Amino acid sequence: MSSRVILQPTGNKDAREHYVDTLLRPVDILRIKPFISQDEFNHLKELYPNGLVPTWGVTAGVNNVNSNKWNKIQPADVTFFSANKVLYSYGFVTYKIHNAALAQHLWDFNSKGETWEYIYFLDELRDHDIPVSLFNKIVGYSQNYLVQGFTVLDEEKSNALVGYFDLESQTAIQPVSDDEYREIVESFDLAALDIEGKSKSRAEQGFLRKTLFGNRALGTCGVCGKEYPISFLNAAHIKKRSFCTSEEKLDYKNIVMPMCKFGCDDLYEKGYITINNGQVKVNDKIITEPLNNYLNSIEGRECEYWNKSTFKYFEWHRNHHFVSNI
Ligand SMILES: [Zn+2]
Repeated sequence: MSSRVILQPTGNKDAREHYVDTLLRPVDILRIKPFISQDEFNHLKELYPNGLVPTWGVTAGVNNVNSNKWNKIQPADVTFFSANKVLYSYGFVTYKIHNAALAQHLWDFNSKGETWEYIYFLDELRDHDIPVSLFNKIVGYSQNYLVQGFTVLDEEKSNALVGYFDLESQTAIQPVSDDEYREIVESFDLAALDIEGKSKSRAEQGFLRKTLFGNRALGTCGVCGKEYPISFLNAAHIKKRSFCTSEEKLDYKNIVMPMCKFGCDDLYEKGYITINNGQVKVNDKIITEPLNNYLNSIEGRECEYWNKSTFKYFEWHRNHHFVSNI
């Protein structure tokens, strides 16, 4: 349920070339299209609306050792690339496909006649600079341990690393089932912000984001109505999460809506705005001119998330932030 960490050494020549050719310079989706099904294409297009797809792949390996590891990979897992005893960058997994023809097209074959057919796609690639010695310390390996090949860390080691660097994808969403979400909501104590608590919190957020955004890279703020990449949108609770009963949290289709980080989420959270009769209403608070301009631009907008199922949550928020002018 939590994000796994994948280690991807890039010491050899093939890997160094692939890193530049298909990750740093993402692959045009039109090059991929002839090799994949329509469903796979649609899925990729949702993930990469600009059509540029950072692509990686591994060979099956001796006795399928790599493909067995690849099978464990899921969206929102983190891949670290390493060379010269440094983990020098990381990115988040978005999707994977097994496709030898595409791999051959992108990378040809290695000297043993294998191709990198166990393909996975990445996003949010970022430079980092983690000495392998620090990595070893965090996950509990001995000081001189050197990662030799494609590796998927177990849950405990993954949690240690993800927790240490506070890694969280802004766009890739890990698959969380209804049952897993229920288990989190019923067991999760927000006070327990240890590594396990953080991991559950991420999973809960991931589930809610998946509910709102599906695989789409773009979404629309429920308050101001503007469209943004989903990394600028929160899955915001209409009724404050800490006041929700378990039953209300489980009403996940109605308890959240997208709110943008450019102001709407904070304004709603702090009670500067409420939704009344389906419209954005501005409360009487201390404001400044720029704030007033922002509020004027959204006042009276119709909120499309206001309906008979969500009504009671908006009412709670309005009462919670009740001020004299309502
Ligand atoms: Zn907004």
